[in-house]
Amino acid sequence: MSALLDIDPLADAERTISAGRQSEKGKASDEMRLLGTDTPLTLKTLKTQYDAIGSFLHQPTLGMLDRGMHHDAEALRSRLKRLLSQLDATLASKIFNFTVGRFSTCTCGRCGVPIRRRLPREEESTTAKCPECSAGYILTVEGDGVTWSADDVELQCATSDCDGVIVAFSDEVVPGRSFVCTQCGQRSVIGLGVWAASDA
Ligand SMILES: [Zn+2]
Ligand SMILES: [Zn+2]
Repeated sequence: MSALLDIDPLADAERTISAGRQSEKGKASDEMRLLGTDTPLTLKTLKTQYDAIGSFLHQPTLGMLDRGMHHDAEALRSRLKRLLSQLDATLASKIFNFTVGRFSTCTCGRCGVPIRRRLPREEESTTAKCPECSAGYILTVEGDGVTWSADDVELQCATSDCDGVIVAFSDEVVPGRSFVCTQCGQRSVIGLGVWAASDA
């Protein structure tokens, strides 16, 4: 679910679909017919129940038993009953797995895996992460077009008289990492630095 939400932030939201014939193009129909509501299990529900029910899978330790700490079967039963009603609502959804929205796909420049992202309705830009290698991207939406830009930085070669530059993804800029300049062949190491502030 977490991966689905990365692609579509509305993946676990409840949605209702109604349809109707337009009397006039571009104008909402006066006779909308309800097709159904999709009630997915939300990431919040999944996480909460996983943590709570998961604790019952572990046998209490001897120390816990000594302190009189046992599993509370009644609490588990009532929790499962509440979960059952949520599952019933999800399984009773008349519609499911439908998506209305604009999506954009791009191949990751680092690992070659396709990345799919839902485009925002209002904002002009959004971010995406490769599901395989976590490389970051910035998506700029302009009209019907979308531009994917890698979230990267330029790194200057450490040799004083060389103007060699390499481009690295932001998550690769980690103290201790190194890169070899394609112009002079010198290996440069990335490190933290301290400078005097210009307004001091
Ligand atoms: Zn990747
Ligand atoms: Zn260089």
